[in-house]
Amino acid sequence: MARLTRRLTKRAAADADGNAAEVGTHPPELNDEQQAAVDAIAAVTGHGVVLLRGVTGSGKTEVYLHAARRVLGQGKQVLFLVPEINLTPQLEQVLRQRFAQSSVSTQLAVMHSGLSDGERLDAWLQAFRGDARVLLGTRMAVTVPLPDLGLIIVDEEHDASYKQQDGLRYSARDLAVWRGHDAGVPVVLGSATPSLETWNHALQGRYTEITLTRRAREVALPTVRLVDTRRMRLEQGFSPQVLSAMADRLGNGEQVLVFLNRRGYAPVLSCSSCGWVSQCSRCTAYTVLHRGKSGRPRLQCHHCGGHSHVPRGCPECGDQDLKPMGRGTQRLEEFLGERFPEARIARIDADSTRLKGSAERLFSKVHRGEVDILVGTQMVAKGHDFANLGLVAVLNADTMLFAQDYRAPERLFAQLMQVSGRAGRHKDGGEVMLQTDYPDQPVYRALQKHDYEGFARYALEERRSLGLPPFAYQALLLAEARELTQALQFLEAARALPEQNGDRYVTRQHIMLYDPGPLRVVRVANVERAQLLVESQSRPALQRFLAQWSADLFSLGREGRVRYSLEVDPFEI
Ligand SMILES: [Zn+2]
Ligand SMILES: [Zn+2]
Repeated sequence: MARLTRRLTKRAAADADGNAAEVGTHPPELNDEQQAAVDAIAAVTGHGVVLLRGVTGSGKTEVYLHAARRVLGQGKQVLFLVPEINLTPQLEQVLRQRFAQSSVSTQLAVMHSGLSDGERLDAWLQAFRGDARVLLGTRMAVTVPLPDLGLIIVDEEHDASYKQQDGLRYSARDLAVWRGHDAGVPVVLGSATPSLETWNHALQGRYTEITLTRRAREVALPTVRLVDTRRMRLEQGFSPQVLSAMADRLGNGEQVLVFLNRRGYAPVLSCSSCGWVSQCSRCTAYTVLHRGKSGRPRLQCHHCGGHSHVPRGCPECGDQDLKPMGRGTQRLEEFLGERFPEARIARIDADSTRLKGSAERLFSKVHRGEVDILVGTQMVAKGHDFANLGLVAVLNADTMLFAQDYRAPERLFAQLMQVSGRAGRHKDGGEVMLQTDYPDQPVYRALQKHDYEGFARYALEERRSLGLPPFAYQALLLAEARELTQALQFLEAARALPEQNGDRYVTRQHIMLYDPGPLRVVRVANVERAQLLVESQSRPALQRFLAQWSADLFSLGREGRVRYSLEVDPFEI
């Protein structure tokens, strides 16, 4: 194997978790913590799960690369999973460059949903035949057969993208752990904010936890400031503090990221006379006002994808005075253009990156320093290493605070940690400003101290007291029909099955079946949806129950006009 040359590289590039992996001739030197992590992974014999928990910028990717190189040197294959397509090009570049210099054979295959069927088949064959020694991909790559599998890496293991939401419902992360077990190889789960399930496994000693507490570059973590907006007049959603901090940073030639998790121009169009609001005719949801390419507004439904023209007057009262309410990324972009006319502004969200290659182009513009203000949704939070980014402004985090889903605080914390981690990666003085009406919320307090453990302990304790996962195991039966009553009837019938066929359900007394109920957004594309939650204190009991139940559901489902799906460990309830 080629000797490591210990010299710093000239050029930094974005990488999968933005942890300062370098593109260039020579890999950077590992610090003590990183070296200890590499050693700990190497020490795993057979199957074992290692949780690599490292603050943003701690250099997890370098650890992955070293661990992978060792395994490749033993003539084995590496499966490397990342949550997002957008993260694969940069990581691919890093992997190719890095392994090109070593003597190990490192043919690389990439697999994600952005490829054509032919390209995907090609990657599949290369991996299957063993020609590809590294398979890099999103969740779909987890099922690809690898004859010489030696190591599995799951980056950003907490990420919701690993959970398939349509068709076959599996978590690629859990499947990866299972595959590692099956093949007798180590699995590395990496994250700055591990899922509470994973962290609980580590606390219980089932997983080995390794922590990276320092940033790989010797820079301090950004300062997080909570801007109390309770009695504040906001200008298009911006506090005066944030606007003036932005002006300062721009004046210093630094980049600013404005984070708003809502795309479009405004979340709803409304009539100021009668209170009419724009709603989708096919869903129980508001339609979002968007600006098209030509600047022409239209209404779009984020649930069914349908869109319509903006009415000339109010459909209810005829008033011409229809106004956008609230704001999305497009409106922020427009306002910032007026407010900072000299600044070059880019917007990165699902709309601006729809075309193939457009996300890559936008991100590389930011990297080249051709963008001063970046406006973006969660797409920008993940993984990118922007060298010159000094300030991150978070505008509407509060909207996620009181979501009904019990996982909402966990997701919010992870997202905020991630977006905060974009600030000040290459030099000290990075800052995060978070506008909130609830500055005392534990999520924000923990964020201010970059305290994952504090947050996780608090959240786990809450889950324990409420008997929620990971202290209970769940499955969700989802039913879809033309009429809500059909869906609910199906679920009632499904609920009665264990009672009617008691002898077949031996673990029945360990299973709790809740009342069926409609989903929060009950109708999508003219289909009404309802759900039934199943819970147990015992994983094996739940599994035995589900095996029998899904067989019975199959015959039950054949009779009616109901489509159903069964999800184990549901992500959203
Ligand atoms: Zn009206
Ligand atoms: Zn719709």
